Amino acid sequence: MTGAVTVTATMPSEAVLAPFRSTRGSALMLGHVHPDADVLGTLLALGQALQARGWSVTYGGPHPPPAALAFLPGVERYQRLQALDGRFDVAVLTDCPNPQRTEGLIDQTRRAAATIVNIDHHPDNRRYGDVNWIDVSAAATGELVYELLVALGAPLTPPIATNLFTALHTDTGSFRYSNVTPRTFRTAAALVQAGADPAFVSERLYERRGPDALRWLGEALARVEVSDDGRVAWLALPSGAIPEKVIESEELVNYPRSVATVRVACLLREYLGQVKVSLRGKGDVDVQRIAAQFGGGGHPNAAGCTIAGPLAEATRVVLGAVRAALAAAPEAPPAGESKR
Ligand code: 5GP
Ligand code: MN
Repeated sequence: MTGAVTVTATMPSEAVLAPFRSTRGSALMLGHVHPDADVLGTLLALGQALQARGWSVTYGGPHPPPAALAFLPGVERYQRLQALDGRFDVAVLTDCPNPQRTEGLIDQTRRAAATIVNIDHHPDNRRYGDVNWIDVSAAATGELVYELLVALGAPLTPPIATNLFTALHTDTGSFRYSNVTPRTFRTAAALVQAGADPAFVSERLYERRGPDALRWLGEALARVEVSDDGRVAWLALPSGAIPEKVIESEELVNYPRSVATVRVACLLREYLGQVKVSLRGKGDVDVQRIAAQFGGGGHPNAAGCTIAGPLAEATRVVLGAVRAALAAAPEAPPAGESKR
C-alpha cells in the first residue's frame, strides 16, 4: 500500500475497514514479545471474525502465549514464529506501539504482507503501519477491535466475545483503573450479551493458582520496600528468587501500588543479565516518561522498560529517575482523587 494512513478517531474510518472488506483473503495476526491478554484477545477475535468470512489466518509472534491464558478460545493456533511462510494480504499488529517489539518479525512481515494495519491505544505508538488506528482514549485495544468488528458487521460469537472481554478485563485491572470509561462498560456489556462469561473469565484469571503459589507470593511480598516518605514502593526480584510461572501469573507490581501513600510503584525482575521494569503511577506522575528515559514506553499510569543489570544498579537508577519525576510533579492530590 502506498501513502500511510493514520486515524486517531474513536470509530474506525473507511481506511481502517478497507483492508478487511473482502470476503476472502489471507491475514497474519502478529503479536509482540510476551503477549498479554489485550494482544492475544484482539488478534484472536479479529482473526476469528476474518476466518468466519472465509479468510485463512495465521496467528503468532516471537513468544508463545503464557499458560495462564490457555483458556482464550483459539489460542492454541497462536504459534511462536521464527520465520514467516508465504504471503499475506494483511498483517495486523494490535497493542504494539513499537514494531521492534516483534523481535525482528516486522521486517519479514513488511516483505510478506501487502498491507500492515496497526491498531493500538498507546500514546507512544510509532505509526509504523500502512494503516494506523491509534486511539489513546481506549482503555484497551479490545475496545477498538470490538468497534472494528461492529463496523464490519461481523457476528460476535461467544469465542470472539470472550477474547475481547478478557482483553478489557486485564488492561483495566478488572475495570478498576482510571482508564475505564462509560465506553468500556458499554463494550463489556455488549460482549457479555454476546456470550462472554465474567465469572468464567475471572475464575480463569485469578483463581487458578497452583498449590505453592501463595507461599511464593508471600516470599515476593516480603521483599516489597517503601521509601521513608511513603511515596515510592518497589519490589526487586533477583533471578531465580520466585519461579517465572508465578511472576507471570501474578501482577506483582499491584502490591506496592496498593500502599495508600504510594505515588509510583516499581517491579524490577532480573533475568538473563537484564532487568525488566514495570512502573505504575496513580495519576500525578507520568510513568511512561520515566520508562522512556530507559528506552521503554507504555501509558501515563502503566509503563515498562528493560535495562541492563545488575539488579542493584538497575534499582538504583530507576528509583533515582522516579524520585526526580516526583520532585518535578505537583503535590499529590488527596488519595482517591487521582485521574489517569
Ligand atoms: P507491564 O509493566 O505490564 O509489563 O507493562 C505495562 C505497560 O508498559 C504496557 O502497556 C506495555 O506495553 C509497556 N511496556 C512494558 N515493558 C515495555 C518495554 O520494555 N518497552 C516498551 N516500549 N513498553 C513497555
Ligand atoms: Mn493494551
